[in-house]
Amino acid sequence: MTTTVETASASAPFVEKTPLERYVAPEKPSLIGLSRAELVDALGEVGVPEGQRKMRVQQLWHWIYFRGLTSFDTMTSMSKDLRSALEQRFTLARPEVVAEQLSVDGTRKWLLRLPGETQGERPHEVECVYIPDTARGTLCVSSQVGCTLTCTFCHTGTQRLVRNLTAGEIAGQVMVAKDRLGDWPGAIRATDGVMPQKSSKERISGKPDMRTDRCITNIVMMGMGEPLYNLDAVRDALLIVADGEGLGISKRRITLSTSGVVPNIERAGSEIGCLLAVSLHAVRDELRNELVPLNRKYPIAELLEACRNYPGASNAKRITFEYVMLKDVNDSIEDAKALVRLLKGIPAKINLIPFNPWPGTKYECSDWEQIEKFSQVVFDAGYASPVRTPRGRDILAACGQLKSATEKLSARERMALRAMAMTD
Ligand code: SAH
Ligand code: SF4
Repeated sequence: MTTTVETASASAPFVEKTPLERYVAPEKPSLIGLSRAELVDALGEVGVPEGQRKMRVQQLWHWIYFRGLTSFDTMTSMSKDLRSALEQRFTLARPEVVAEQLSVDGTRKWLLRLPGETQGERPHEVECVYIPDTARGTLCVSSQVGCTLTCTFCHTGTQRLVRNLTAGEIAGQVMVAKDRLGDWPGAIRATDGVMPQKSSKERISGKPDMRTDRCITNIVMMGMGEPLYNLDAVRDALLIVADGEGLGISKRRITLSTSGVVPNIERAGSEIGCLLAVSLHAVRDELRNELVPLNRKYPIAELLEACRNYPGASNAKRITFEYVMLKDVNDSIEDAKALVRLLKGIPAKINLIPFNPWPGTKYECSDWEQIEKFSQVVFDAGYASPVRTPRGRDILAACGQLKSATEKLSARERMALRAMAMTD
C-alpha cells in the first residue's frame, strides 16, 4: 500500500503529525476487503487447485459480499473439507462493534474498535453513522483513525494517533452496518416485527420506500480521515462496495469527500469513478490557508482546476462543495456571492454545513438567520442549497453513553451532522 504523508516544512507547516501507525494483521486474517485476485491467492494458500480457484472465488464472493455470511460453515456450495480448511486459516471478521445507538428517527451509530500497532495501547475507535431518509439510506464511513491534516475547525485534526484503515476495515464498516440493519438478502431485518407490513426502509424511516428494499443505498466517505491520503485502500474498498455481484451500491451513490489533495483527485475519478465532494469552506486563499492548511500547498485555483477536470463530472454527476458555516469568519453575504462566482462553470452542488462546535474550539456556528441569508444567495444563483434539518438529535445528545471523553462526544456529533448534510 502506498501512503502519502505530508511532512512539515518551514514554508508549508500544514501537517504536524507523527508518522502513520502500521496495521498489524491478526494471526488469522479476515477475507473481508480482499479483491477477487487476492481471494485467488487465499484459496491457493489452503490448497485449492489452480484450475478451480476462479470458480471458487465466484462462490466465495457471493457468500461474503452478496449474502453477508459471517462464517464458512454455511457456505453450502463448497465441500465440507474446503470450508474447514478456510475456517482454519481465515475469518470473515468485521470491525468489532463496541456500542450502538438508535435514534427515534432511525439514525443509527456504531462505535467500532480497531486493533492498534502496539499491544496494550488504547484501542483505536472510529464511528459509522446510518441516516435513513424517504428514498435513501446513507452510511457515513471513515478512512483513517484520526487525520494527518490539521483543519482548524475539525476535531479529528487534533487527534494525535493516525492510522490508515485497511480496505477490509473500510468495506467492513458497510458490512457491519448491513449486519446490524439486517440488510442482506433473506436476512431478518433489524426492525422486523415493528411494522411488519412495510419494507425495511419504510420501517426504519417511517416513510414509503419508492426505490428499493435496501436499507443502505448511499455511501459517503465523510467520517474520520482524509480518504485521498489512503487512496489505495479506499479505492479497493469502494470497488468492492460497488461490485454488482456483491454489495452492489452504484458508484453514482458513493461520494468521496476531500479537503483538496489535488494530485489524487484525478485518480479518485479514474480509478474509483465515484462522486466527489470538496471541503471548500472559504473563497479566499488567505482564509482557506488558515481553515484548511493544506491550501498552502494546493491553493483554491489549483483545486478548482482539478475539479473542472474531474473524470465524469457533468450536470448529472455534479461535484459537491462543502462549506462549513463559521460565525463572522466565512459567512458574510460577500462570501456567498464570491462563492457562486468562484464555482461558475463547474457542475456543482453546494452543501452548507452548520459548524458543530467541540470543547476548546475558537469557532462558533453561524446564526441561523445568517445561514438562511447565505443560503438564499446561493439559491438565487441557481443552486439548491440544502441546509439539513438535524437528524438523530436524541442519540447525539446521549453520546456520552458511548464514550466518556467529552471531546470524543463532539467528534461523533460532528460526523453525524456532516453526514446529514449529504442526505439531500
Ligand atoms: N477529510 C475529508 C473527509 C472527512 S471530513 C474532508 O475534509 O473532506 C467531512 C466533512 O466534515 C468535511 O467537509 C469537513 O470539513 C467537515 N467538518 C469537519 N469538522 C467539522 C465540524 N466541526 N463541523 C462541521 N463540519 C465539519
Ligand atoms: Fe482531516 Fe477532513 Fe478534519 Fe481536515 S476536515 S482535519 S482533512 S478529517
